Amino acid sequence: MTLSFQQALSTVREKLSAAGAAVEVVSLDGVRGRVLATDVVADRDYPPFHRSTRDGYAVRSGDLTKLPATLECGGEVRAGEHFAGKVAPGQCVAIMTGAPLPAGADSVLMLEYTRREGNRVEASRAVEVFENVVRQGSEAAAGGRVLPRGRRLGPSEMGLLATVGRAQVEIFREPRVAIIPTGDEIVPLDRQPERFQIRNSNAVTLTAQVAEAGGIPWRLGIAPDRAEPLRKLIEEGLSADLLLLSGGVSMGKYDLVEQVLADLGAEVFFQGVAIRPGKPLVFGRVRERFFFGLPGNPVSTFVTFELFVRPAIALLGGAEFEYPVFLRARLGKPFRQRLGLTAFMPARVEVQNGEPEVNLVGYQGSGDMVGVAAANCFLVVHPEQTDLAAGDWVDVLPKPVN
Ligand code: AMP
Ligand code: MG
Repeated sequence: MTLSFQQALSTVREKLSAAGAAVEVVSLDGVRGRVLATDVVADRDYPPFHRSTRDGYAVRSGDLTKLPATLECGGEVRAGEHFAGKVAPGQCVAIMTGAPLPAGADSVLMLEYTRREGNRVEASRAVEVFENVVRQGSEAAAGGRVLPRGRRLGPSEMGLLATVGRAQVEIFREPRVAIIPTGDEIVPLDRQPERFQIRNSNAVTLTAQVAEAGGIPWRLGIAPDRAEPLRKLIEEGLSADLLLLSGGVSMGKYDLVEQVLADLGAEVFFQGVAIRPGKPLVFGRVRERFFFGLPGNPVSTFVTFELFVRPAIALLGGAEFEYPVFLRARLGKPFRQRLGLTAFMPARVEVQNGEPEVNLVGYQGSGDMVGVAAANCFLVVHPEQTDLAAGDWVDVLPKPVN
């Protein structure tokens, strides 16, 4: 049975969500791109004190109801200091950005609205209570959760971990992902191909995609289209957390992947998704290991990885499920389709007159990596979108860049 794109995604999510990953402790600088294994809480209030966001004067807002008002300056407080005294009625304290608000004051008047002569400060503007101040604990209260378990850690999350003093971080181990290319015509890169042979590009694409998705790629040898050697390689690959096969899942006489997996006792969750490219995609489990049989055409391999394998690796690595995120752009030229499929076509999105506009790149079908390399995204056309006009808002799947 062929599933819709959404049904297939839900199946992957459902089957993999129980998967648990092992935990390791790593120093903060080493966690970029990794997945947090515990909730992280604030060690103290953030900000830890009422913090001024401006250079100016710490004042009592009630002193500035009649303008102009004249205040007496009782001192200065800089970032990294603490003002020991108290601001009494009619007084103010010079304050710098990042400094704690002195006791007695309830707001900061910007320097721009003041004139100073000696110790006398003339204020030309009123302030609200807590104006130009970030209140203690308003970003996070001590003990409150600032990051959830399962969150992938990028530079901003790492900065937050540093803020709350986490020099050592508990993270999940990355899943190991075995990559098995199949096909009698596929030759390794170090060999000059005959005219009828094809270089093993999928293993290179998939290795990079796995690493980018947060897995550890493990590249196995090329399986010929014969059951016995294919079976041996699959059995070897089963020591990984996830098994990716490329090619051999179509209807041809020498497409043996499904047969060999069935002989090994595989349970198949789906076999065929209403997408183009990538229709013959297979997803299942064999001997406790999940596998994907990716159609061998290089564009099909690439797209089915982005749609299904990327979120699967995230789940196996303890992360939240990462649905593919589609952005929106205006369609440059009208487009018709009657396929009843979700189509993903190499395209470029560029800003035209202040709006994102998407246009297809020249493309010869699912073998054409030249077209994909020229693209920066895929135009996504859903089954019900049979006639699209120029200027319509459409979905776009960005292509990963690193
Ligand atoms: P298949 O899915 O085995 O029918 O293969 C479909 C197409 O993808 C064929 O033209 C193959 O030559 C090509 N192909 C399969 N595997 C690879 C690979 N590892 N690298 C590049 N092209 C491949
Ligand atoms: Mg093949």
